[in-house]
Amino acid sequence: MELPHSQSVSSPAAAAVSETFLSVQGEGKRTGVPSWFIRFSGCNLRCRWCDTPYASWQPEGDSRTLDALLDEARQVRAKGYPDVVITGGEPLLFAITEPLSAALRAMGFTITFETAGTVDRPVTCDLMSISPKLASSTPTSDPRDPAGTWARRHEERRLNLATLQALISRYPGHQLKFVATTPADLAEIEGILAQLRGWKNEDVLLMPEGTSPPTADHKAWVFQACLSRGWRYCARLHIELFGNKRGT
Ligand code: SF4
Repeated sequence: MELPHSQSVSSPAAAAVSETFLSVQGEGKRTGVPSWFIRFSGCNLRCRWCDTPYASWQPEGDSRTLDALLDEARQVRAKGYPDVVITGGEPLLFAITEPLSAALRAMGFTITFETAGTVDRPVTCDLMSISPKLASSTPTSDPRDPAGTWARRHEERRLNLATLQALISRYPGHQLKFVATTPADLAEIEGILAQLRGWKNEDVLLMPEGTSPPTADHKAWVFQACLSRGWRYCARLHIELFGNKRGT
């Protein structure tokens, strides 16, 4: 199966999955909740600091059918895990997420989607975790992109205000999670939020960028930015527990 970078995958019956695993949710409002993760492989963006390049820059994974994923879901439920995180890559590229999420809800799962908010798809979801990508995510002069093709594509696609608004409005359970690289990101975040409605300060999360624990300075300015704006500080529990390790 071709792994996507620009168009949605229309098959509702199968899609490339790079991994499924049990762990705890590492980021956001449901941090610490034991969860089953389904990671779809393929992304329409290429963040400079992407921590899952095996689902974006070099997408890997076998095609999994809807039936196969639901068989695994039944086993997960039988073991007593009621939470599922559908992530990527960009999971909303994949049409299979519509029947998959509906079936998971029917099985009694609480469902989180993790998306960059550039693709709109009507899935079944309890927490839509939206992570709009800032200018600091663009892979300018990245050795993985010598011609600059992805830097241009990424810059064109990374923010889609109409889609962000549609996701916020459709899913009352949502969070807006921003990856903070430098204090210069704050003005861009405030500019994005000013153009959106229907969110509350408690839904806005600021997370220090990095695949290793943040420095004291980095934590300090992110903390101050949250404190002065009423936003949430977002740690990365999985990095603390396991480091930057696949399948956690
Ligand atoms: S949107 Fe997510 S998966 Fe895609 S490149 Fe950025 S961080 Fe990686």
